[in-house]
Amino acid sequence: MQAGRPTGPLVQGYEVIIGFETHTQLTTKSKIFSRASTAFGAEPNTQASAVDFALPGALPVMNKGAVQRAIEFGLAVNAHIAESSVFARKNYFYPDLPKGYQISQFEIPVVQGGSVEFFLGEEKKSVRLVRAHLEEDAGKSLHEDFIGMSGIDLNRAGTPLLEIVTEPDMRSSAEAVAYAKELHKIVTWIGICDGNMQEGSFRCDANVSVRKPGAELGTRREIKNLNSFKFMQQAIDYEVRWQIEQLEDGHAIQQATVLFDPDTGETRAMRTKEDAADYRYFPDPDLPPLVIGRDWVEKTRAEMTELPRVMAARFVATYGLPEYDAGQLTQSKAVASYFEAVVAASREYKLASNWISGELSRRFNLIGEPFGDSLVTPLQLAALVNRIGDGTISNNAGRQVFEGLALGEQLSGDAQKQVDAIIEAKGLKQMSDTGELEKIIDDVLAANAKNVEEVKAGNTKAMNALVGQAMKATKGKANPAQVNELLKKKLG
Ligand code: ADP
Ligand code: MG
Repeated sequence: MQAGRPTGPLVQGYEVIIGFETHTQLTTKSKIFSRASTAFGAEPNTQASAVDFALPGALPVMNKGAVQRAIEFGLAVNAHIAESSVFARKNYFYPDLPKGYQISQFEIPVVQGGSVEFFLGEEKKSVRLVRAHLEEDAGKSLHEDFIGMSGIDLNRAGTPLLEIVTEPDMRSSAEAVAYAKELHKIVTWIGICDGNMQEGSFRCDANVSVRKPGAELGTRREIKNLNSFKFMQQAIDYEVRWQIEQLEDGHAIQQATVLFDPDTGETRAMRTKEDAADYRYFPDPDLPPLVIGRDWVEKTRAEMTELPRVMAARFVATYGLPEYDAGQLTQSKAVASYFEAVVAASREYKLASNWISGELSRRFNLIGEPFGDSLVTPLQLAALVNRIGDGTISNNAGRQVFEGLALGEQLSGDAQKQVDAIIEAKGLKQMSDTGELEKIIDDVLAANAKNVEEVKAGNTKAMNALVGQAMKATKGKANPAQVNELLKKKLG
């Protein structure tokens, strides 16, 4: 990859390079090559079949549902779905891998290429994918300290995974986290992964290196199994600082696999990294090539749910929203369908977007609840933004109406009646009577002769002071734009 102009922030004069490998656990009910259940949390070894225990003679049978999900992912990221892909044995020894090899895909993966697009702040980014391949998960070693023994639980063995690999396209920990969040959004949106990071359904490995701008790619270290966005950022930031320190001290970076310790906030080398050759990959003779007919791909494409970026483009085209807003509104299906319900009842599209991404999301964050209808219904929010849009109340007064709706202060009649009743009860109506407003402004001008002089001398700060005085005199009920206009007219 070219050493072009740095496209991210430099850290102490170094460019940061990050590539991700993400293991997403697929939502099939049974395992990738056996009929055992994939449900989480069962008693050890109660969900493992002869295939998962690797009993001699037990043969793997491909789970069609896992392939279906791989196709859906490929379509979601505009990738190529291989007509024929191949399962390979990745050979290594570990107690939780009784076969002595993991079935994975190596040379020919099922999903090839594609990209993930997202916003980093207001900047649009695109991270290229190399591939996504199907593979089986391993079991788990349980270290039972209280009896001084270790045991093996093979419930997880054979759980279907889709490993999604990026090009080294990311240039900061913030960009890496934004990518991971976007990927998480895609796989949960299309329903191929439950996204539960605590239970390990979505685990990221971050490959990190640093280089001087214009230099060749540096040697990378791979931080394994990051299962929270917060740790992801901390781990990468620590790793970048550590690598720069090493290089500045004249040490070379050794390729290695490292673990992040959330307690110390440090990364620690676990083992030096194996090369592909160490795994002696070869095609698994127990499984024929995975052949996917084009009709299967096209049927899947036709039946797929509207993707977040397609929906976002539609929001831009239909409602004239900025791309950034559309991206915010398609953060989750819940937010998107809330927005659609609001704009079915109001033409104040931009205001609806502002209120959903602003006040409403903030409230759900505060109470730690997933986004939904519980605080204020879509129809109530539509009624609220209607009254801001038609000038009845100011955006600021809207907050008090929102509060009233959340507390259920006025419950009789439809949503518009409730909103209007709150506006009435709290006296939030903007002053629309120009005559009344003009009289107040005349009083303000008379009482602030010094400011008036200054405005006439070209001082804009003095103008703001007059607007402030007038707003105060109307107890905030005037429309600031209207006040401004009237003042300008009167002062010439
Ligand atoms: P391996 O076969 O050893 O896993 P890959 O070539 O598949 O290596 O790369 C694994 C991941 O590491 C990919 O996400 C890739 O983008 C990333 N990567 C490769 N080289 C670098 C580098 N110099 N710095 C950061 N990430 C890198
Ligand atoms: Mg790899």
